Amino acid sequence: MKATTKTTVAYHKTDTAIPNKAFLLDMLATPRRYNSATLDKFNACLIADLMRYGYPVEYDGLGIRVSIPLANGLPSETLFSCHTDTVHGTGGKHSTLVEYNNTLSVKGGGILGADDGAGVWLMVCMIERGIPGTYVFNYGEECGGVGSSGLAHQHPKYLANFKRAVAFDRGGCSSVITHQGGRRCASDAFAEALADVLNVATGDAYLFCPDDTGVYTDTAEWTHLIPECTNVSIGYESQHTQNESLYLPYLDDLLEACCSIDWESLPTERNPSVKETSRWDDWDFGALPASTYKSYISKDTPQGEMDCTLADFHGMDWAEIYEYVYGNPEAIASMIEELVK
Ligand SMILES: [Zn+2]
Repeated sequence: MKATTKTTVAYHKTDTAIPNKAFLLDMLATPRRYNSATLDKFNACLIADLMRYGYPVEYDGLGIRVSIPLANGLPSETLFSCHTDTVHGTGGKHSTLVEYNNTLSVKGGGILGADDGAGVWLMVCMIERGIPGTYVFNYGEECGGVGSSGLAHQHPKYLANFKRAVAFDRGGCSSVITHQGGRRCASDAFAEALADVLNVATGDAYLFCPDDTGVYTDTAEWTHLIPECTNVSIGYESQHTQNESLYLPYLDDLLEACCSIDWESLPTERNPSVKETSRWDDWDFGALPASTYKSYISKDTPQGEMDCTLADFHGMDWAEIYEYVYGNPEAIASMIEELVK
């Protein structure tokens, strides 16, 4: 995989070796907001690069799809999924990355875009290794699943060919998602079997297990067509915030595991034609005391960097301010509270 843009890595206190690292660093240094010039350029470079591997590459306004058949020539029934866009605000400013203790982040704080650049990296590496499967690089996940929902509406029969859809777009290093937004997307039998093979392949280094606390990603759009729709941890933390980071050794281990698993032999139990109810369908948020709601919201919002003042925004452009507000809503609320006292 060749580099697509200028790398702006500032320094290395560690230097974790992973395959195609220059590609990963270049991608993470590039903001990839949906419908931006930088993302359009990135997607075009990605298509050109993927074509060099010799497998069929399809692309349209929904995303990029690459198919690698099984060794016996039959099509794989496994779909792998990631998204090329990030949650960056408008503007095309490239980030300076730092690597410390095997972990990447943006120098001085910022959205890294490992959500979901890490998933893009993994799928490109798997394609390079010729691992059978259909690889879908979705467009516009951060804008409500533009590509994945479009695929479900425009090509339902195509999606119904698959028994499992595996997104690589979950934070942390141990989740195999069974529910997204409280609604079941994969059976426990499937998630346990996938967690088991991941644990064997990684020597129990991460203790993968089924996780029913998933939030939205592209595979949620396909649950009425594909029986098992999951999302597997891809090693980022604090996505959508100024503190987003990516643990590199996990990426390397997950790549090796994903290249050794017999995906086709995983069990299929969930019936996609049965509409699953959400455990939150009857949930009355109004009944919660405000303090409970606040602590629920805070779960995904890192604390400790919450204090900010207007002076912190001097020199930032609109996009940088937008990113900060998006990633740190509590800090902004606290600052305004202070200002109006
Ligand atoms: Zn994502």
